[in-house]
Amino acid sequence: MHRKNAQRGATPLEVTATPMHQQPLVWYVTAGALLMVAILTLRAPPDDGPTASDPLLPEPDNAAPIVASVAIIEEPADPQPEQPQWLDLTVGEGDNLSLLFAEAGFTDTDLYRVAKSNERQSLRRIYPGERIGFRTDDQGGLLAMRHVQSPLVTTLYERTPEGYQATVITREPDHFTREVSMTIDSSLFLAGIEAGLGNAMIMELAGIFGGVIDFALDPRTGDTIHVIYEELMLDGEHLDDGPILAASFTNKGETFEAYRYTDIEGDTSYYNESGVSMRKAFLRAPLDFTRVSSNFNPNRLHPIYKTQRPHRGTDYAAPRGTPVYAAGDGRVIEAGYTRPNGNYIFIQHTEQFETHYLHLHRKRVKKGARVKQGQVIGTVGSTGAATGPHLHYEFLVNGVHRNPRTVHKILPKARSLPQEEIPRYLAAIQQPTQRLASLRDARQLARAE
Ligand SMILES: [Zn+2]
Repeated sequence: MHRKNAQRGATPLEVTATPMHQQPLVWYVTAGALLMVAILTLRAPPDDGPTASDPLLPEPDNAAPIVASVAIIEEPADPQPEQPQWLDLTVGEGDNLSLLFAEAGFTDTDLYRVAKSNERQSLRRIYPGERIGFRTDDQGGLLAMRHVQSPLVTTLYERTPEGYQATVITREPDHFTREVSMTIDSSLFLAGIEAGLGNAMIMELAGIFGGVIDFALDPRTGDTIHVIYEELMLDGEHLDDGPILAASFTNKGETFEAYRYTDIEGDTSYYNESGVSMRKAFLRAPLDFTRVSSNFNPNRLHPIYKTQRPHRGTDYAAPRGTPVYAAGDGRVIEAGYTRPNGNYIFIQHTEQFETHYLHLHRKRVKKGARVKQGQVIGTVGSTGAATGPHLHYEFLVNGVHRNPRTVHKILPKARSLPQEEIPRYLAAIQQPTQRLASLRDARQLARAE
């Protein structure tokens, strides 16, 4: 049996085992003689077992020249001794270490010896997609083993006279600032995908603006979004997306801006251009907006009673099972079933505010439960007087139904940064503010042409 995903030979991870080699090692020397003594003392005696890699020590053949007086000595580019190559096996479904050791030509005894090392935690669980690497000596013995848990974390198990020694090697990705602009044709989700954003970043974007824009119902064709974010790279390749640093959303001519900022207390959050928190007391759309039908026309003619009834909420048509969120922090005051409402949940937020969620397929919280903004409280359904799956959402102020689409204009203002911190904040966002402005200008120019 031969494994397709076995890799022989050096991989980019080779470097990770000896991070000192990534950059020339520079020594500042005040006296050449002192250095000579130091090197002679550090160099391991030749009979000290297998000369496992010690990246700090130059090899005798190509040791750096010693220069008297003040000098900068650069280590040669690659002084690494001839090391046996790694055999890397990728962990598959149902694999265990015993199988992988056998496949690499080793026994359970070898495995036992490695697992006895002081850092065997990494080997307690291995997951599909991780890699287990083996390095063999001339006699076929196990010189070293490595457990590549992620591109950033590897645990290396090296043979020593005292048994295998484990070392955890971590790497830091490089951070780059990226910019992306998009125009909405049908939905934020599709515009984001088209612009090459990952799902997670689209959700992050929606989360940042979730208190000021209803992403299910507000976006219009022609709305523009500009995002400045961080990209994490490793060895020149994309590793992951970092956080959104700044973003602007122009919806029907009105522009909202958000900046990531770490305040004096060390808390990181998003604020608008004047330092008002983007986190509002209520979400504009209390459900997973990516699944809402954009062409849904709220039907004022009641679908079952076929009469014109006063409609006191907002309807979001979405597939059965779409998560419904608590619009704000609060307590569940009702969770039940009636013929007209179907499965419903009422949440009390402060003395004044109440939100209602009707026709749920499932309820996920019980009466009396405390809920957090964004917490899933149920799923969209069509229970009660509803012809198709949709969320009927109501907002009450002091017991009176208000239009959830416009009620936000009368809600209390969100938290602001303290006045004395505003100068620090404005200085921090100066550069991204200018970038967003020039991105918007560029987009307008492009459209004018
Ligand atoms: Zn309704």
